[in-house]
Amino acid sequence: MSVLDLVREDLRGFAGYSSARKEASGGRVLLNANESPWSVAGDALALNRYPDPQPAALIERLSALYGVPADRLLVGRGSDEAIDLMVRALCKAGEGEVLVSPPTFGMYQVCARVQGAAVSCVPLRAEDDFALDVEAVLAALTPATRIVFVCSPNNPTGGSVPRASLERLVEALRGRALLVIDEAYAEFSEAAEGIALALAHEHVAVLRTLSKAYALAGARIGTLIAAPELIRVLRAIMAPYPLPTPSVDAALKALTPGALALARSRIGLIREERRRLAAALPGLPGVRRVLDSEANFLAVEFDDAAPVYRAALAAGIVLRAPNPGNGLDRFLRVSIGTPAENDALLTLLQSWREAA
Ligand SMILES: *Cc1c(COP(=O)(O)O)cnc(C)c1O
Repeated sequence: MSVLDLVREDLRGFAGYSSARKEASGGRVLLNANESPWSVAGDALALNRYPDPQPAALIERLSALYGVPADRLLVGRGSDEAIDLMVRALCKAGEGEVLVSPPTFGMYQVCARVQGAAVSCVPLRAEDDFALDVEAVLAALTPATRIVFVCSPNNPTGGSVPRASLERLVEALRGRALLVIDEAYAEFSEAAEGIALALAHEHVAVLRTLSKAYALAGARIGTLIAAPELIRVLRAIMAPYPLPTPSVDAALKALTPGALALARSRIGLIREERRRLAAALPGLPGVRRVLDSEANFLAVEFDDAAPVYRAALAAGIVLRAPNPGNGLDRFLRVSIGTPAENDALLTLLQSWREAA
């Protein structure tokens, strides 16, 4: 059994589009890609040239950041793109199925629907602070299940999946399905177990991103860490030049030692602010509880969330109301901002109560 057995049969030997930049890189006189030989005025990045599909310098820095060999990395337009590519590569339309545990990140289901794959939902255990129901996940597997998505820390509830649960999934899914551990918020958490598991088991893949902890949501740079055979298949079905040169440039700058040191200190501040908000919020009337979070947001339960949402919006503070029907009707998701932004929220909630 190899991870390739989980890939759609019609794609296993697929070579994909052979772009000019892939066929031949280097060279001094570039007459192979129908580009303009001139760049526009003021362009320091040579944007007249198509980018390297997977730029070596960026792969090298991400490989150092995550501690994995380069042939296990796929860099895409956000980790969102990697989710889409995995669903397309593993799920044949009308046949394949993905398993998700809502309330969780919505893109897994969106990508499955677009691909025509079935979605099996095994809800988190609301009565147990939205813990993953590992036994129910295993009971829901079918021969059509190709991917099990686990988000840790989970968006929007904030909790991490314990190592023992991940290990149980790894063992039970071997030879049956790909386990995707989405670690978009790993940097804010104490325990990020995914990468070690992906290095040890070829049916485990991990998603990381520069969008959250590294302050580059606008650049759209996300990374998939998986077995080299799977990475090769996904590279073949990916868009020919997925990473825009300005985004690659921004990512390289964000991954220099100085920028990384600043990112680490800001991650520390977010965690401190998370603790401060999590302690202050339950004291406010109308707030029922705050779920333990290992991410850069808090899921806050109110007696009635809708008027809080509206009052915040009227004061210019935008919160996130979870999608209806996912069991979080009384919750709002609050991203951790700067200390001043977090103070503004606390002040608003205090005065909103007094006005009510
Ligand atoms: C934000 C988020 C992503 C997407 O990240 P991008 O790299 O910006 O595409 C993936 N998974 C989860 C759980 C997220 O919250």
